Amino acid sequence: GFNCGIVGLPNVGKSTIFNALTSAGAESANYPFCTIDPNVGIVQVPDVRLDRLAEIVNPERILPTTIEFVDIAGLVKGASQGEGLGNQFLGHIRSVDAIVHVVRCFEDENVVHVSGSVDPLRDIDIIQTELALADLDSVDKKLQRVEKQAKGGDKRLKEESEFYARLKAALEQGVPARHAQVADEELPWLRDLHLLTDKPVLYVANVAEDDLDGAHPAVAKVRELAEREGARVVTICGRIEAEIAELDGDEKRVFLGEMGLAESGLDRLIRMGYELLGLITYFTAGKKEVRAWTIPVGTKAPQAAGVIHTDFEKGFIRAEVIAYADYIAAGGESGAKEKGLMRLEGKEYVVQDGDVMHFRFNV
Ligand code: GDP
Repeated sequence: GFNCGIVGLPNVGKSTIFNALTSAGAESANYPFCTIDPNVGIVQVPDVRLDRLAEIVNPERILPTTIEFVDIAGLVKGASQGEGLGNQFLGHIRSVDAIVHVVRCFEDENVVHVSGSVDPLRDIDIIQTELALADLDSVDKKLQRVEKQAKGGDKRLKEESEFYARLKAALEQGVPARHAQVADEELPWLRDLHLLTDKPVLYVANVAEDDLDGAHPAVAKVRELAEREGARVVTICGRIEAEIAELDGDEKRVFLGEMGLAESGLDRLIRMGYELLGLITYFTAGKKEVRAWTIPVGTKAPQAAGVIHTDFEKGFIRAEVIAYADYIAAGGESGAKEKGLMRLEGKEYVVQDGDVMHFRFNV
């Protein structure tokens, strides 16, 4: 599965948020393996389109799609130098697809701040520096090895070592790998390094109970930084989310309504995590089940079919496709067919977010 690692300094609210994410999921779980590991949670991706489809189809069950969140505790200043359980935690970050960086924006005398005060930019910098130092180490090792090999006179190896040297210089200047200038032909070299600062990042500003409007100056600072980086920010209150996660569907709606919110912060966080991972959803809609399926943006029809079953991909013939909006407007599949809104698509079709699909295949 695709996963987001939750990182941040100690006492910023990571576990509170992680626990809320997983208990909210456990509440309505259709999946038996809600927790694979105490630090890994499978979380359902909220999607109102599933409910709209179900209203039309009346299926026996509704199955949302899921993503994983991993609670990566223990990242402290000096981690890249082996401080705390530093290297171990950096290894966990290496294995995730994207990073959800929780930043403390709440004041609370009863919760010790590891650096003494609420200062999100300093905190973000501490974490980013550790990640960059770990990357610098990886790049430097690779550079030394390839530099040696390049002494044999191979032109391509020379180019490769020059690439690492440039990347190293960028990291030393505090530029994360994801913002380094990398030519298309250099991309495989970058990907092979599996750098921590190459992963997409989403910031979570964890605010106090009465700062949910996001007006706190600490949140504004996180927003400014994120804007410069082209990253997104979710403002949530971990404590409130923990309470909401305990409620069932109706109670939750009432509670959110009283607070003037359309959805919980966690729901927003999950959806933004999904987008951060570059994922989209297509649907299958039948009497047995209405179901959401996850694919990376740009996936073609046969590979999308393969998410359901490898046989669907191997024997792929065609896909019957109805865009979500057309499906709803036409009141379902037969209506869409009558209006000529059902398309037959082949192997090269790039599946779009919201497509309602039916695959034809050979067995
Ligand atoms: P972690 O070390 O980053 O995993 O942080 P925890 O989730 O364990 O939270 C540390 C402390 O901060 C706990 O006592 C939480 O109850 C508290 N905390 C977390 N979120 C909030 C919040 O939104 N507001 C307040 N006031 N306290 C919070």
